Amino acid sequence: MLAAGRIEGHRVDEESVLTGLSLAKELLSPKKLGRHADGKQGLSRLGYEAQECEAVGMVLEQGEKLGLELYEDVAANAFLVFPGKDRHKPVLLMGSHLDSVKQGGLYDGTTGVVVPLAAIKALQEEGAVPPQDVAVAIWRCEESPNFKQFGVGSGMATAALPTSVLEKTNLKGVSLKDSLVQAYSSSKGRHDADLLFLEERLKARDPILPVGHIAHAVEFHIEQADTLRRNDKSLGIVSAIRGNVRFPSVEFFGKSQHTGGGFQGDRQDASLMLGAFMGQVMSQAEKIGAKKDLVHSFPLIGQPNDNSTTTPNYVAVAFEARSVDAKALDKMASTVEAAANNAVAKHGGEVTVGPMNRTEPVFMDVSVQKLLRGHARRLGLSTYDMVSGAGHDIMRLQNAGVASALVLMRHSGKSHNPMEDLCLQKDPFVPDSDVGAAVRLAASFMMKPGASSRTREGSFTKELCENRAREIFGERHSFFPSLVA
Ligand SMILES: [Zn+2]
Repeated sequence: MLAAGRIEGHRVDEESVLTGLSLAKELLSPKKLGRHADGKQGLSRLGYEAQECEAVGMVLEQGEKLGLELYEDVAANAFLVFPGKDRHKPVLLMGSHLDSVKQGGLYDGTTGVVVPLAAIKALQEEGAVPPQDVAVAIWRCEESPNFKQFGVGSGMATAALPTSVLEKTNLKGVSLKDSLVQAYSSSKGRHDADLLFLEERLKARDPILPVGHIAHAVEFHIEQADTLRRNDKSLGIVSAIRGNVRFPSVEFFGKSQHTGGGFQGDRQDASLMLGAFMGQVMSQAEKIGAKKDLVHSFPLIGQPNDNSTTTPNYVAVAFEARSVDAKALDKMASTVEAAANNAVAKHGGEVTVGPMNRTEPVFMDVSVQKLLRGHARRLGLSTYDMVSGAGHDIMRLQNAGVASALVLMRHSGKSHNPMEDLCLQKDPFVPDSDVGAAVRLAASFMMKPGASSRTREGSFTKELCENRAREIFGERHSFFPSLVA
């Protein structure tokens, strides 16, 4: 069964892919991870809440059946490790998240945990052992709604978040600190020490994840839009994840009056200011968008007056632009400020522009993209080079210095929605479906990840890794067991 394709990556037997896919099907079924999804209501599996803990438990249980080594870090992220031939080689890291937004879908995140597990199952089926360990991560609380914070688990593991994140409270008013204690699955009585350790690491901006011992990281994820469907491709290889500028609140204050009264030149409708503002912002966005990558929207517009014969004295709007080009984001940020002032200068009244949030674009590792494209080509899979408009856990890894890539899977575009679906085929769990393609790509990559421009083999000594693992995981959490043995 260890076929000839082995030299150029690894072509998993069709039968074995099918076995892997049956595991994916079972994990995504209403008996398992689909248990919390409910028809029109969708899935509301919020980060660090009981449902997420239960979902992590279900996957770990499955991992145990597969004979994988199971670990949990002090941010309650879970890791399922498939031991490779040489356990001292840098690890290949895959995985994604199991939490969802409120009334979201089953497949955002979940697919990225299930696909590599299905690939491991397929490899085991043919007795194939990868040259290095493969770790499947379950990052906790990727979605923002519960703590108003994106990528909490991966952000703490890579020390990208400040210590103050532990004080953030969720929708029920419970702090992240307390949620973490509830989420720790094992080892009673060590919670205080764990929290203290996490706090120290965050303060020192020192990742709890032994990033120096990770060769590459790859995240599989459903696409948030429908670019792949439109281009009739199964898988997207992402070159960059868009950054954004977000103005949660731009408020216009004008004067109320009868819609039929007065002279037009004297009118101070807040809505006139809003119109002028939006017009200027949109025309600038369209101008930039004609030359550079840019998407923009006004996600929120509100005014308290519901009387259609009275002009509003107050209107609030939110604005967001996303781009892989930092200069395009700079330009949009300054346009919003200028357009707000121009609108007020033209129509009178006042404007308050609330604080802007900004995240920078993240560029994925070029060499890992190239390796993935090579594997896909050899397997005869159709891929598409694209940018991603949504944030993902994998950004944290790339920002922490791990050579990382993001692979998107074809999708209808109904994401963060109860209507979210897996892909467009009638049966997604057959070898020639998009999920089948993802499983084959993952399996091939596990067997021959190749060397990236940032592979750290040799840059970290075994001793250093040993000490680091002991320091980080103590006796109970040795992420790389061979190193602490
Ligand atoms: Zn996601």
